[in-house]
Amino acid sequence: MPATDPRVEFYPLRARLLTVASAGYLTPRMIRITLTGDDLDGFRTDNYADHVKLFFPDEETGRHALPEVGADGRWNMRDPGLLYRDYTVRRHDPDAAELTIDFVAHDHGPAGRWARAARPGDRLGVLGPRGTHHLPDVDYVLMGADETALPAAARWLEELPRDARAYAFLEVADPGEEQHIDAPDNAVVTWLHRDTDPSGGANLLERAIRGFTPPVGTGFAWCAGEATALKPIRRHLRDSGFERGRTLDVDGYWRRGTVNLDHHAADDD
Ligand SMILES: Cc1cc2nc3c(=O)[nH]c(=O)nc-3n(C[C@H](O)[C@H](O)[C@H](O)COP(=O)(O)OP(=O)(O)OC[C@H]3O[C@@H](n4cnc5c(N)ncnc54)[C@H](O)[C@@H]3O)c2cc1C
Repeated sequence: MPATDPRVEFYPLRARLLTVASAGYLTPRMIRITLTGDDLDGFRTDNYADHVKLFFPDEETGRHALPEVGADGRWNMRDPGLLYRDYTVRRHDPDAAELTIDFVAHDHGPAGRWARAARPGDRLGVLGPRGTHHLPDVDYVLMGADETALPAAARWLEELPRDARAYAFLEVADPGEEQHIDAPDNAVVTWLHRDTDPSGGANLLERAIRGFTPPVGTGFAWCAGEATALKPIRRHLRDSGFERGRTLDVDGYWRRGTVNLDHHAADDD
């Protein structure tokens, strides 16, 4: 989140300890977890890509370390015992004191495993969001997302003005993973099914975005998902006139074979 970007607004950083109010499968591969607790007081989120760091208990010892945020708003990600991953704020309901996170159900890492086993009463540490990106004024938005970015895409489609023009390409495993999304009437939502291809291993998003003919006007393009699969998409969108930092945001949310990918690390090629 570059401090110089005028579209970025920072929030005070705070660590919270929340309790699982409910946990259940939204689709066979997506788990919805609703968190609650007095600690949610003052929680803020404004835009679709707002995300938090979730802090999980150690899988062997059960020790649950939480970050300590100093008076300067900083925390030490190398503090011993911290086990954290990035997740999108799917929904925040301040009146009900609820924070909803949608987890891809997989057993390759501690976050995916925690979600599969989560039960009401379990505790989860939550840090952030650190801030938000406000969108520029545009005529249309183009989104490309795999299932890790589906929570952000779905939130965005639901929160867009009802007369917004949006084109969303959403890659999931199969038709059983499609979710109902309350999108604007003018939104064109296209579900892409990987079928037998592994997650992150198909080039469905790339083919769909290459085949997209932009309408007249200025667009904002956002794509998120498996970092390697996004590279040709980033290049294509740049070549098509979208500008990084202004009308283009391509964000690697995970990378096959990498533990806890740092999505802030430069990945511009
Ligand atoms: C800004 C941001 C927002 C995100 N929002 C969400 C969200 O709302 N929901 C969500 O589910 N994910 C989201 N992610 C992705 C999530 O942080 C990663 O998938 C994370 O690696 C999961 O942690 P883990 O402990 O399960 O796996 P890790 O320990 O990080 O990785 C272990 C292994 O699992 C593989 N792996 C990681 N994720 C997946 C996956 N989804 N499918 C298959 N293999 C995988 C890795 O490549 C690695 O080989 C987001 C990421 C970012 C950067």
